[in-house]
Amino acid sequence: MIYPIVKYGDPVLETPADTVTEFDTPELNKLLADMFESMYAARGVGLAAPQIGIGRRIAVIDCSNGERPEEKLVLINPEIVRVEGMQSAEEGCLSIPGFRENVSRGKKVTVKAQNAIGEWFEMTGDELLARAFLHETDHLNGRLYIAHVSVLKRDLIKRKIRKLAKSGEWS
Ligand SMILES: [Zn+2]
Repeated sequence: MIYPIVKYGDPVLETPADTVTEFDTPELNKLLADMFESMYAARGVGLAAPQIGIGRRIAVIDCSNGERPEEKLVLINPEIVRVEGMQSAEEGCLSIPGFRENVSRGKKVTVKAQNAIGEWFEMTGDELLARAFLHETDHLNGRLYIAHVSVLKRDLIKRKIRKLAKSGEWS
């Protein structure tokens, strides 16, 4: 099932998500499959559960855009363990469509998370994957990437979104 993507302005995106305590259930497996389907449909490389209106600490990532199944990643209750180096690149978010900004992030990032059956694992990613770990973990903490750009740029984006919302082009 493809969920519509929740857009900026919905409080679910700025509320810290709840810890997942039940694993390996048909309900969780269905949700994970739906999250991948919704992410591919929206052409994203990452999706956090709050972006489909579900306030639980779950994110899916696939930096290959569905090209390589081995790159499909499920992060449940993720925590950033280590951040090394620095990279700067344009970043966007499915919940803030039409906007992209330069964001400085760690270049090499280690995340600790649980998988679909509740096992903890640690994984280190570089470049785009490192960025995805930080972006998606931020989502689960109620934080959007625009929190990492200058106040000036952030206000400009918010102003443009308000204008779009007024003319009914943002829902
Ligand atoms: Zn996002």
